[in-house]
Amino acid sequence: MEPIFVLSTFVHKKGIILKFSVMPKKQKMKIMLMNPPNCGRSIPEEEYGITSLKQIFKGEPFNLEVLAGPLSEHDVQIFDGKCENEDAFWKTFDQFQPDVVGFTSLTCEANTVIRYAAKIRKQCKAFIVVGGNHATYNPHDFNSAEFDYIVVGLGKKSFSELIDRLAAGENGCGIAGVARTSPGKHLSYKPRQFSKTDLMEDVAPRYDLVAKYRSQYYLEQLGLAMGFVITAYGCTHNCSFCTIPGITGGKYLTHGPDAVLRDIQTLGDIPFIRMVDANTFGNAAQASELCGKILKAGIRKKFFADVRADTIVKHPDLLAKWKEAGLYAVVVGFEDVQDERLQAYNKKYQGHVIRQAIEILHDLGIVIVGDFIVAPQYSENDFEKLENFIVTHKIEIPVLSILTPIPGTTLYDEIKKEIVIFDLDYYTFTNAVTKTKMPEALFYKAYADLVKRLHEKPHRPQ
Ligand code: SF4
Repeated sequence: MEPIFVLSTFVHKKGIILKFSVMPKKQKMKIMLMNPPNCGRSIPEEEYGITSLKQIFKGEPFNLEVLAGPLSEHDVQIFDGKCENEDAFWKTFDQFQPDVVGFTSLTCEANTVIRYAAKIRKQCKAFIVVGGNHATYNPHDFNSAEFDYIVVGLGKKSFSELIDRLAAGENGCGIAGVARTSPGKHLSYKPRQFSKTDLMEDVAPRYDLVAKYRSQYYLEQLGLAMGFVITAYGCTHNCSFCTIPGITGGKYLTHGPDAVLRDIQTLGDIPFIRMVDANTFGNAAQASELCGKILKAGIRKKFFADVRADTIVKHPDLLAKWKEAGLYAVVVGFEDVQDERLQAYNKKYQGHVIRQAIEILHDLGIVIVGDFIVAPQYSENDFEKLENFIVTHKIEIPVLSILTPIPGTTLYDEIKKEIVIFDLDYYTFTNAVTKTKMPEALFYKAYADLVKRLHEKPHRPQ
């Protein structure tokens, strides 16, 4: 790496001193960001004939687009393994010869990411970095020779700090939220105190890096093309099964409305916009301001948001205003219809709130994507109650996942003794990785049959 001379000026009490110092020149890095393939296993799909769960992990690799935002001085590529196959990955890799490879990883993708990283390690000297949900909750799983750095939590700023260091020929030790791997030893790193500066909201996501895949970001189940924006990271709550709060160290960090508006406009003529925050209207005042700006800008799009049931009940006017601005559907994590389970999940509301929220949404004509969690402890009677609830309350798009204790969550600590499947490939939220109360085959059959019945006539946007 060539040195460069930097002129520094110091003011001394006897006058100004000019000083030259030698600094390593910052290199332009070639950075390849990899969205892992759809690699998780799903027993209901493999053995019980349902196909409608496949949509769960579809959509653009938005986190990688966000990560690439501050790296404009470098040559960045995003490879979407959910759109291209493994041969294409190695071909792209060989042609690009990256200096840094960055993986994002959900828990069900961890094994596959390790396999790719091991192969890269054998082939070249690129720095290998991993981040995402699994790295945040279980960084020690990546503390191995395949990786150089692990980004823990929200990575937009910490990853760009790491790249700055590497580009200057330095190592990334000491960056808060970035762990230098130490295979065979305890993994130690400085935790990051996340704040709004970590959002770097003046830097837009690099939508251009996935332009070649854009036509594939099409949700077959709903028959629509969708673009992603984000209005907030983290959550105001802390449900026991959820991995969202840990990404920001328990904080709820919102983007200013202008940054969100910029991203919506950058997506051009894409008709549906999915706000991929896990809790879109957690700050009602800010959500209202954004809505006002969308209306004022005359943007005519359909929006999807994630909203808590109690937010809907507390702020029906906000939902009505958003409906006017194009809010088409809301994803609501109802999770269960029985109070004991809602309490056990630390959901912080009860079943009557869910019913009120549904009524408000139906009155407003907002489509409900209802997330429900089927617990492995379900009995036949529980399945029946859930089906009755969904049908009676006319939930347009019910999504049924199976309760999965992601390592690192409170739920995991609570039920880890009941785990019967340890292979992380199965942590796709569609498998009972803990003991079922019903005989296992009957449980899966009841689950698969219910999913089939509920998805028989898929909802189509009007
Ligand atoms: S499930 Fe929803 S409300 Fe609960 S912590 Fe996760 S994002 Fe927040």
